[in-house]
Amino acid sequence: MKSFDVIFIHPPRVLNPDHKKRAKTVRSVYLFIPMGIFAIADTLEREGFGVKIVNYPLERYLNPNWSLKDYLRTIDFKICGIDLHWIHNAHGAIEIARIVKEEKPNVKVILGGFSASYFHTQILKYYRSIDGIIRGEGEIPLLKYVQNINQNHPLDSVPNFSYRNSSNHIKTNPLSYTAKTLDNLNFTNVSLLKNAKHYFEDCSKVMGISVNLPIGRGCPFNCPFCGGGQRALQNLSGRDKVILRSPEKVIDDITFIKDTYKVQSLFFGHGAYPANLKYWKTLFGLIQKEKLDIGADLEIWRLPFPKEMWKIFSKTFSRRYSSVGISPRTLSSKVHQKIAKICDPTFKFPENQIEDLIKNANLFRRTLRIWLTVGFPFQTRLDVQKDFNFGVKCMLKYGRTILKPITIMSEPYHIFPGSPAFESPKIFDINLKYNSFPQLERFFKQAKMSFFYNAINYDTKILSQTSIRTLNMLLFLSTALTLMTTGSKFS
Ligand code: SF4
Repeated sequence: MKSFDVIFIHPPRVLNPDHKKRAKTVRSVYLFIPMGIFAIADTLEREGFGVKIVNYPLERYLNPNWSLKDYLRTIDFKICGIDLHWIHNAHGAIEIARIVKEEKPNVKVILGGFSASYFHTQILKYYRSIDGIIRGEGEIPLLKYVQNINQNHPLDSVPNFSYRNSSNHIKTNPLSYTAKTLDNLNFTNVSLLKNAKHYFEDCSKVMGISVNLPIGRGCPFNCPFCGGGQRALQNLSGRDKVILRSPEKVIDDITFIKDTYKVQSLFFGHGAYPANLKYWKTLFGLIQKEKLDIGADLEIWRLPFPKEMWKIFSKTFSRRYSSVGISPRTLSSKVHQKIAKICDPTFKFPENQIEDLIKNANLFRRTLRIWLTVGFPFQTRLDVQKDFNFGVKCMLKYGRTILKPITIMSEPYHIFPGSPAFESPKIFDINLKYNSFPQLERFFKQAKMSFFYNAINYDTKILSQTSIRTLNMLLFLSTALTLMTTGSKFS
């Protein structure tokens, strides 16, 4: 029997999705693992611990009859880490923890990730199969936890750790670790993953998204529905500023995953905005210098994104596998102004600057994806109508030729824990339906798996959950031709 100190299990959304609807639901099982897991696992391995990562959705994708219970019976391990980063995995993470405890009652089960950090006390209160939660950034805290467990040392010195002590009280150790640099971490040690060779290829194929390559940590902005913005991160992980990896380290990673796993394209896990354009120029310059033939998906987090950037981007990355994306969510400047006033003064996506992006994307023939959402806070019926008009206008103008690579994307959104709208739904004129962890766990157990990954957890003043879903689907379908003429990726 193989023996490990720690195994990590990436949970699915539900354990047994309906196989008859496989084609439709497989995308929403979300095969990707939060990339931090690889760095955490690698840190443990470098310190001499035996580590394995198991991706439950990938295992079931490769073999629909794969059984976690059977697999667990073939290995021995002391600690099981389960990522609960995206709230969509709330039910799956709890179920995996239950199965692990049933099979191996003496194993310690530890959760980590944004959602686990946000709900740490509720999770420990309501779910006995969870022994502890690493909050915020995990590499050093988990290492310390594993060392302390191995040496039978008390757990009160483990940074960022919440747990039940021997008297069954929930203890919350201080949030004292936040990484100062990321350059000592290895985000691409995918070899620790079971079925590693399938990870990049199958994930990109099924999800229609390129593999995420970590560039930094943190975000200086506060978009209304995002649980990874500046204030959310300050609360969850104590991170008060953005750190970016050195461009040379990023180049090492690109070279490695390209050579080892034949990756054709990657998604930069950090966006472009005026304050970091210099960083992107340096990185793109190095990619050119190294002659790395690869595609890339880059998000624009804030405007402007000048013509010069388009030029460098198009010179650096292959046309076929590359795109630039932006998420104004609506074209209504009134909505943007309201959001700028109550939660983020930088939330501005003026129509003339969107038009400039379209012009430059056409000029440099690089795919531009503009993400809209029906059901964004403060949208009126007229705003929704105008967004439909904009989408249809783009479809007629650019949708019929691959020479005009503009894609209008539409998706319903989930209000993530810790986001400005989750914290203060009333200020955003939103009726938030579920805000405790047990409610969310049940919600994701029952939420229909569909083409759209997000499950809607709110109504606005003018739109119910159902109409938000239907209208986003309609907008998506009415502009689908723009997607078909620019490729099938959804990043
Ligand atoms: S959605 Fe907004 S707040 Fe969240 S990571 Fe992106 S830019 Fe930052």
